[in-house]
Amino acid sequence: MNVAINGYGTIGKRVADAISAQDDMEVVGVTKTRPTFEARMAVSKGFSLYVASREKVAAFEEAGIEVSGTLEDLLVDTDLVVDGTPKGSGYREVYEKSGVKAIWQGGEKHSLTNLSFNSLANYDAAYGADCLRVPSCNTTGLLRTLYAVQISHGLDEVLAVMVRRAADPWDTKRGPINAIEPVLKVPSHHGPDVQSVLPDLNIQTIAVKVPTTIMHLHTVIAKLRDKATADEIVDLWKATPRIRLVRGAEGVTSTAQVMELARDLARPRSDLFEIVVWEDGVNVEDGTLYYFQAVHQEADVVPENVDAIRAMMELERDKKESIRKTDLSLGIPTAF
Ligand code: NAD
Repeated sequence: MNVAINGYGTIGKRVADAISAQDDMEVVGVTKTRPTFEARMAVSKGFSLYVASREKVAAFEEAGIEVSGTLEDLLVDTDLVVDGTPKGSGYREVYEKSGVKAIWQGGEKHSLTNLSFNSLANYDAAYGADCLRVPSCNTTGLLRTLYAVQISHGLDEVLAVMVRRAADPWDTKRGPINAIEPVLKVPSHHGPDVQSVLPDLNIQTIAVKVPTTIMHLHTVIAKLRDKATADEIVDLWKATPRIRLVRGAEGVTSTAQVMELARDLARPRSDLFEIVVWEDGVNVEDGTLYYFQAVHQEADVVPENVDAIRAMMELERDKKESIRKTDLSLGIPTAF
């Protein structure tokens, strides 16, 4: 199964490595727009490198970086393309013309594909689909924990406050670097984005941006339909894929220690694919569940991209099998 990565950036390069770790799909090539260190790294890792547009090929030749052709050439041998380009790059027609299936990322609107994907929540809807969108890191984080609770206990109402990282660690252009910036569009777009996968969930979200690069942090308040204790919710999440429980009592008191834990796991790039929930920050009072969770924005959507490929290419019918296979390959403790 030949998968192309168009846009070998933060998400694209991680998805490329994750695909390489599977035995039922392979990366046929990746694209770059400029001859950067990432382009050179792609070649040194053994990926065939293509240039997103013909007029930029000369720049790669001048830099002495070997390319195999253009995006157009790459798509000839491609079954499915993972689009990791910045939002609004506008490749839909190109992919349609080439007859390849396509996965977009969370910068795009739900309306681009009318199918937003989460492995546990709607794998079946993606089975055999021609295109879909893996929603943003924040939305994926909310979906992981809330879907499990919605299914087991029901949810009447959810309010989530998203404390968002200002930029990815490599990005020196974005801010703020010394301010807290409220997102004045209230409620924020994250609630409707969660509803693009779970349409029946009554959820509102608001967001602020803070000067950190390593993780997002969510504070979630959720009114339960059926009674549950905090211990029951924690046990539920322990049995749910891609959720990692940590304890403040063991010294994990902030996102800094979460990322130190991620470094200790010694995965490539210290990626934390799981959503981190503070076990000793979970509480249920008068039927309302309170919790904090942290999201490694560069990593959590990666396993979802792999499962989406498996579903769209009809490589595995059973979502649990796909999730298990993906998680085993990425070193994520398996829940099934
Ligand atoms: P990025 O800027 O790190 O990478 C984008 C890549 O696309 C770069 O390699 C760039 O050279 C390339 N590119 C730019 N314009 C292009 C074009 N016209 N054609 C082909 N390639 C082009 O971006 P990213 O953070 O990986 O974001 C990609 C998508 O993933 C966006 O939809 C974003 O919203 C989403 N996303 C990002 C994060 C995150 O935290 N970084 C998390 C989840 C989802």
